[in-house]
Amino acid sequence: MNRIGFGYDSHRFEAGRPLVLAGVKLPGERGLAGHSDGDAALHALMDAMLGAAGLGDVGEHFPPTDERFRNADSAALCTEVVALLAQMGWVVVNADLTIVTEEPHLAPHKQAMRDRVGDLLGLDTVAVSVKAKTNEKMDAIGAGEGLAAYAVVLLEELGE
Ligand code: MG
Repeated sequence: MNRIGFGYDSHRFEAGRPLVLAGVKLPGERGLAGHSDGDAALHALMDAMLGAAGLGDVGEHFPPTDERFRNADSAALCTEVVALLAQMGWVVVNADLTIVTEEPHLAPHKQAMRDRVGDLLGLDTVAVSVKAKTNEKMDAIGAGEGLAAYAVVLLEELGE
């Protein structure tokens, strides 16, 4: 059996924090605000995985009110979600991410992000897609206030 899941997240930019997206530290003067490291791409991905398995969302598993998750490494949280899915009998088949931001220019980093997500999910790079869009200067994301990420994943029952 297969299950499909969708995830979305957005975070505001905040000066003085490192920018981490899809588990990759990117150059830039502004990172993303958030209780964790603010990695909206991995948060969307985790929501997609949890959603596909009917296991809730990131906020339920890693509450922002919990001090354990202050400045948490989202890659480590993602590994926990993959382990939880495996425990429930699910494995990820592929992942498709779209990141929407005006800055920084993500094209030079897409391959590194694919490789990193592949490592986190135990997938070949060909099964991971990372796409970068701008918002054509429209709305808050277009004004550079923050960024957004969308993710779709397919799960398969283990042992099939
Ligand atoms: Mg988030």
